[in-house]
Amino acid sequence: MAKSISCSDAGKDCGWSATADTEEVLMSQVKEHVLAEHKEIELNEKSITSIKSLIKEA
Ligand SMILES: [Zn+2]
Repeated sequence: MAKSISCSDAGKDCGWSATADTEEVLMSQVKEHVLAEHKEIELNEKSITSIKSLIKEA
């Protein structure tokens, strides 16, 4: 089962979403996107945990 995540699920006014085979790959895509588009989000243990809670099985 693939994993997917979308920014709109996080309440962001952003149409980005991603799908990957593993959570590890998906989170690396998320980090890239956050660094590019959501510089206000600090990637720390707490924010990463809440981002992970938004991951869905796709
Ligand atoms: Zn976004």
